[in-house]
Amino acid sequence: TLPRLPIFEAIKKHDAHSAAVVHSLSGRSFSYGELVNDVAAAKDKLQRNTGGKSAVGERIAFLVENGYDYVVTLLSILAAHAIAVPLSPAFPAHELRYILDQSGSLMLLSSEKFQDKADEVLKEGMETSPINYKQEKIMLGNTDDHVTLVDSASEQGGMMLYTSGTTNRPKGVLLPQSVLTAQSKSLLEAWDYSSKDMLLHVLPLHHIHGTVNALLTPLFAGSTIEFQFPFNATAVWERLAAPFLPSADALKKPITFLTVVPTIYTRLLSSHPNLTPELQVATKIALHPSNMRLNISGSAALPTPVKSAWTTLSGGNVLLERYGMTEVGMALSCGLSFTDRVDGSVGWPLPSVQARLVDTETGQVIKEGEEYDKDKDRERHGEIQLRGPTIFKEYWNNAEATAKEFVDDEDGRGRWFKTGDVAVRRFIEGVGKSGQSWTHGPMYFIQGRKSADIIKTGGEKVSALEIEREMLSLPYVSEVAVVGLPSEAWGQKVAAVVVLSEQGKTAGKGGKAWGALDMRKSLKEVLANYKIPQEMRVVQSIPRNAMGKINKRVLVKEIWGELV
Ligand code: ATP
Ligand code: MG
Repeated sequence: TLPRLPIFEAIKKHDAHSAAVVHSLSGRSFSYGELVNDVAAAKDKLQRNTGGKSAVGERIAFLVENGYDYVVTLLSILAAHAIAVPLSPAFPAHELRYILDQSGSLMLLSSEKFQDKADEVLKEGMETSPINYKQEKIMLGNTDDHVTLVDSASEQGGMMLYTSGTTNRPKGVLLPQSVLTAQSKSLLEAWDYSSKDMLLHVLPLHHIHGTVNALLTPLFAGSTIEFQFPFNATAVWERLAAPFLPSADALKKPITFLTVVPTIYTRLLSSHPNLTPELQVATKIALHPSNMRLNISGSAALPTPVKSAWTTLSGGNVLLERYGMTEVGMALSCGLSFTDRVDGSVGWPLPSVQARLVDTETGQVIKEGEEYDKDKDRERHGEIQLRGPTIFKEYWNNAEATAKEFVDDEDGRGRWFKTGDVAVRRFIEGVGKSGQSWTHGPMYFIQGRKSADIIKTGGEKVSALEIEREMLSLPYVSEVAVVGLPSEAWGQKVAAVVVLSEQGKTAGKGGKAWGALDMRKSLKEVLANYKIPQEMRVVQSIPRNAMGKINKRVLVKEIWGELV
């Protein structure tokens, strides 16, 4: 039987015959009824395999491919009131070993496919307990149960996700069940997931985006999650097109929901022209707002040209951008109404999330209406600070980091989490009136990480993200990372690492590649002089992690060496 936790109460109520999970390539489908039974059986099995120890509160790491077995594994760990630690098979063994050790995991579960990888990780001597759920399927029949768990148990167990490691070694973020539930509830309200939603899942499953937004929350709503992994642009287009081809596949339902990172939208857009004319037509129908309910972007800044290209291709389906992080789930989001999705903005605080901006210069809270510093004639930059039921509890085994990232509030109503991200707020006329109670007040515009994206040059504070946005709007640039380099004259100077587009390769003087001088000329119109990069390096590609993020410290080191 399953404990009376909100996630299981929800899953048990869904139509037992409706599909919870679909494997895109094989077409295999697993119903909510099966899911309930298999999770209960897997939980029992898990509890029998903990060597006599109670699983409650224990960390249980697992290496399972995206799909039904992953879902069963995750939910069974939650059902046992243990802490699920999903591992990415793409990580090298020593990184996984680090996570196992850091989390103090009791066990490592692995599916058949990753047995070798698990062995490699465990070579140094951890107990392995491979559970193959599908082989051991036990039908438990009617699961209307007598639950003996007390309420406080809902705090026990949950999930531990490691941050993307963009700025440092990944940190273990403890998300108790109650926090996971609060995060899902907030998203259910804001994005209106329903049992009619058919979500295509192409993300890794060891990050909050793939796990909370694209898995737990749709399960709460009774949506269907179709897994297609690893991401492949052509396969995604073929799947989206399937119900709209003249030879439509009756088994493939239209996808209504896609939430991915900006680089995936970029790759989808760039591969679209290579599709056959028939597929091009069908995919356009698939993306049209009348079929595709919601396309969300997040985890990194969404370049405006990507957003507008998607709008054009889809016949008006404007990407919804949101902002979140491992520690807080989703925090800010644009609205469901198309007019509530302003370029460059991540919108407003989500339901139950309290947000404030703390001036990075004065340390004062920026009150609504005080966003503009009239004396200095510029916008006030503030660090985003958050609180509420969706915020994580602690960095695992790292009391020092936890203490450093929280600040007490004078109002005595709880501590605020310091996100380390900087934003400005702007009143945008004509939006925020969509009728949703949470779309109010000025909109947030992310300026970047305090540690890597806010460049201090000649007494001015410059947002790397803002410059990147302008540079990406030029047809010559396909990718860019703007960084700050040490400078004796300026403190820091702005520099850009650029991947040229096809057009950029011949856009310079005399058919040469577009270069630093061309860049200055192009940016003069749109950026203040001190914001224009003083240095530009052209590279073949910019390394990114699994979530499409750039580690700027490593990038600078690679290009400019240890000097800086
Ligand atoms: P680490 O904390 O290990 O350095 P990370 O911060 O990249 O890695 P995540 O928690 O996965 O790990 O990512 C959260 C960060 O992603 C945020 O702090 C923010 O900097 C960035 N981010 C998320 N959404 C957006 C967005 N819409 N626009 C700009 N940045 C975003
Ligand atoms: Mg972080």
